[in-house]
Amino acid sequence: MRLRTLLLSPLLLILAILFLVTNTWSWGFFAHKEVHRYAVLSVPDAMQPFFAAYADSLIARSMEPDQRAIVNRKVEGPFHFIDIDRYGKYPFSELPRRYEEAVKKYGKETVDSNGTVPWRIQDFTEKLTKAMREKHKNDILFYASNLGHYIADAHVPLHSVENYDGQLSDQKGVHARWESRLPEMFRKSYELKPSAVEYVGSPLDEAFLIVLESNRMVDSVLSMDLKAREGLTEAELFKVTQRRGRTEYQFSDVYYGRYHELLGGMVERRMQESIKRVASYWYTAWVDAGKPHLGGLK
Ligand SMILES: [Zn+2]
Repeated sequence: MRLRTLLLSPLLLILAILFLVTNTWSWGFFAHKEVHRYAVLSVPDAMQPFFAAYADSLIARSMEPDQRAIVNRKVEGPFHFIDIDRYGKYPFSELPRRYEEAVKKYGKETVDSNGTVPWRIQDFTEKLTKAMREKHKNDILFYASNLGHYIADAHVPLHSVENYDGQLSDQKGVHARWESRLPEMFRKSYELKPSAVEYVGSPLDEAFLIVLESNRMVDSVLSMDLKAREGLTEAELFKVTQRRGRTEYQFSDVYYGRYHELLGGMVERRMQESIKRVASYWYTAWVDAGKPHLGGLK
């Protein structure tokens, strides 16, 4: 059942669209911080003197790329996603995985505007490696925290498709419902934990692997959103609140409870996989930098 069929008045529809949460850059602030918090705890002992000492900074700075996106959407925005379904059918083999080759085939403007998160991950992994090799504290903090953000974003299913916010299927706002509201509401039931790290042989191939994983989940993200609304009246589907004299419509707790159940732990799994990947990329940069002693860096 589509949203429109549930809404009786056109005015209500307009209000709902206006007031439903609209952030589509990435996991909400809360989820990004959680991913970084556990990623810091996941790095091997030899890296801990630095990562534990600067844990607060690494966690707080997990949001920097989104802050840049708000200021400079045109430049920063595409680093957070890839609409890979603009390149044919899964597994999108017609898209060359190397950036230069993709640009040669489709043109820079097309490739850049379709989103570049896999290449951003590759680029920032190389820069983090260099920063570690040179033991440059500020650069390590910048590239580690920011790289972690892009890796976590690539784990969000809707960061891999053109219909990133349900705008093409009458499901506007599903982006934030999935990646921000669900983790905020159900975090207490998640059993997130530090993860073992793995050396990433090819940061670029791994980034595309993450995107393909995400892409396989898109159908469920969208279909379960619709299923969660089935049979609910307008009054059950929306929570109506008054704020500063204005009426605001938000999806109800009943809807979120159903969506959470229907997804069967998908959000939690993607957060846990983000933790593992973020820590593994940090570890990989450190290994490739020659395993420098980073403890005591000022
Ligand atoms: Zn983002």
